Amino acid sequence: LIAFRNVWKIYQMGEVKVNALRAVSVKFRKGEFAAIIGPSGSGKSTMMNLVGCLDIPTKGEIYLKGRNIAWLKESELAVLRGRTIGFVFQQYNLIPGMTALENVLLPLEIQEIDDRIAERKAKKLLSLVGLSDKIQHKPSQLSGGQQQRVSIARALACNPEIILADEPTGALDSVTGRELLEMLYRLWKEEGKTIVMVTHDLHLAKYASRHIELKDGKIVRDGINEERLTPETHLEEQETEA
Ligand code: ATP
Ligand code: MG
Repeated sequence: LIAFRNVWKIYQMGEVKVNALRAVSVKFRKGEFAAIIGPSGSGKSTMMNLVGCLDIPTKGEIYLKGRNIAWLKESELAVLRGRTIGFVFQQYNLIPGMTALENVLLPLEIQEIDDRIAERKAKKLLSLVGLSDKIQHKPSQLSGGQQQRVSIARALACNPEIILADEPTGALDSVTGRELLEMLYRLWKEEGKTIVMVTHDLHLAKYASRHIELKDGKIVRDGINEERLTPETHLEEQETEA
């Protein structure tokens, strides 16, 4: 689905150069749930911005669905990205003056879908994230976790194949964070979405099927997560603890 070949990302700040990614080659396959882990400043967000085609590499190539993104016009890239990728970032970027429903309707309206169908779809997505009873609430009337879930519903409105999440639980308390992770888990398991997530929370990373560890801009570990946590095993753990 997405492939990096020998990708470098160098940020130039005046005289100073930062090698944020150094010769990274990696593939993200359809239907996997990858967690990117590693210390602060190791290049995780840089990698996510490249995976999401929000930025271009300094050197090397990135292929999205087999097409080298460097060869695409910005407009073509925007269309491909819009159809393929859904973003869940730490800032929810919800529109404050709009209700939850209106926020989720926004990307559907841009697609020129019939109004009634769009509204039905938006309501369905909000119920998927457990917010059926909050569709008329504005962001300021929702908790952080609920706002985060609205932003997930909005990301899903475009029916993306890939969901990218950079520290999706960053602003949330641990219970809400875990609920959000379980929701991503279900999207992967039940809806077959490909998920790439950055997290510094190693417990939450356990839900993923694959762990990619970055250090100083290089991949130092990449493998299947053997001791995978599921919402069910998590419950069992809690029960044995109690
Ligand atoms: P964190 O866990 O703290 O979010 P990270 O792994 O996401 O860290 P990145 O944001 O990818 O780290 O940053 C990698 C390196 O690149 C850091 O040294 C950072 O200072 C630098 N960097 C990131 N973005 C820029 C930028 N826009 N301009 C200059 N340097 C940058
Ligand atoms: Mg980061």
